[in-house]
Amino acid sequence: MAGCEQGYLCDACGQDVEQIIDSDLYLRYVLGEVSPLQLPAMRERHIRCNAATAQYIVDPAFEPVRCEGFFAKETLDAVFVAEQEERVTRAWRRLQQLPTLGLPITEYPLPEVLQAWQEQARAGGAR
Ligand SMILES: [Zn+2]
Repeated sequence: MAGCEQGYLCDACGQDVEQIIDSDLYLRYVLGEVSPLQLPAMRERHIRCNAATAQYIVDPAFEPVRCEGFFAKETLDAVFVAEQEERVTRAWRRLQQLPTLGLPITEYPLPEVLQAWQEQARAGGAR
């Protein structure tokens, strides 16, 4: 993010979240867990500072994060974990590409997320 933009401090460690590719908030936006309307109001956080999500990123370019305790993936259902790893890793890879893709922010999320939102909008009408 540009140097003049202040106020994107990590909720967990207090350091600046300098780039979108390090942003847990944008990762969760790509995953469809944060809506476009919520985005400006949510607290920012580094991907590595949210171990519960970061532990599912499995990529040679990402140093693995271990999550301790209740949400540790070693203790969770293997099918659920495999699903999360596939989805979160795919979202993380997309996030790494976003700065070079030149997409509008509304097209950042994964294709299935955009499709679900479109279907919701159609089904919900003016709701
Ligand atoms: Zn942090």
